[in-house]
Amino acid sequence: MKINLSQLVAGKIDLVEVHFSYTIDDENILKQYDIVEATPFHFSGKIYKKNEEFYIDADFSGVVTFRCNRCLNDFKQTIDGKLFSNILISDNFNEQEDEKNLYLKEDILDLSTIIEETITLSLPMKVVCSKECKGLCASCGANLNETKCNCNQEKIDPRLEKLKIFFNKDKEV
Ligand SMILES: [Zn+2]
Ligand SMILES: [Zn+2]
Repeated sequence: MKINLSQLVAGKIDLVEVHFSYTIDDENILKQYDIVEATPFHFSGKIYKKNEEFYIDADFSGVVTFRCNRCLNDFKQTIDGKLFSNILISDNFNEQEDEKNLYLKEDILDLSTIIEETITLSLPMKVVCSKECKGLCASCGANLNETKCNCNQEKIDPRLEKLKIFFNKDKEV
């Protein structure tokens, strides 16, 4: 995602409106954040000059389909946030450049890195369909949000219960 800002740098205009879309297609990011599918993120905002410095200020939003870490069901969630950064001017490639900063090189602003960073920072660290998600039964694999399995609530036969106590006593001796 590259934007030519020569008009803004030359002072011919005060601001540049920016509207663009970005789709996450990096397999590593998709895997890392349990993303099944992501619609394009839409960015909308402006780049402007203030006190001899340049800034980008844009809002973004997109819908992501995640796979719940607990129950493994897919669910959709809207992810939105803000991309705000100042833009440093670098006409000299020998300059020490920090990856965290955004640079303008020969009037061209390359947003690719900061876009990806901004989106991934807004993604949830823990991917669960809801706080109440009960997940899967560790014994039978049933989705406990949808069904009750018999693994945990099996009533112990009273006779077996006595036997159990007996065995426990035996162990302690
Ligand atoms: Zn879940
Ligand atoms: Zn079960």
